[in-house]
Amino acid sequence: MPKTESAKTKCDWCGKEMECPKNRLAEKQVCIKCFTDKTDEMEKIPVGKLHIDLRIDNFHELAEFMVNSIDEMVELPTAKFYRTKRRKLK
Ligand SMILES: [Zn+2]
Repeated sequence: MPKTESAKTKCDWCGKEMECPKNRLAEKQVCIKCFTDKTDEMEKIPVGKLHIDLRIDNFHELAEFMVNSIDEMVELPTAKFYRTKRRKLK
C-alpha cells in the first residue's frame, strides 16, 4: 500500500498547525485539543467529514483525552453505586 502523503493544514477552530492526509484535505480539520472540548457545531458534522489530527506526535494530548473520557464513563455508575450503598447502611 502506498504511503499517503500528508499536507500541512490548520485546525478550523483554533488555527493551530496540523497535518492531514492529502486525500482528506476537503474535510473539516480539527486538532485533538479542540476535539476534546467538542462544540455543538462540531457534533453537527457528519462522520467522515471531520478529520481529527490523531498523530503519534500528539500522543500525550491523545492519552489525556482518552483518560478524561474514561473518567466520564466510569463516574456515573460509580456514583450511583455509592449512593445505593449508603442508602442500605442507614
Ligand atoms: Zn484546534
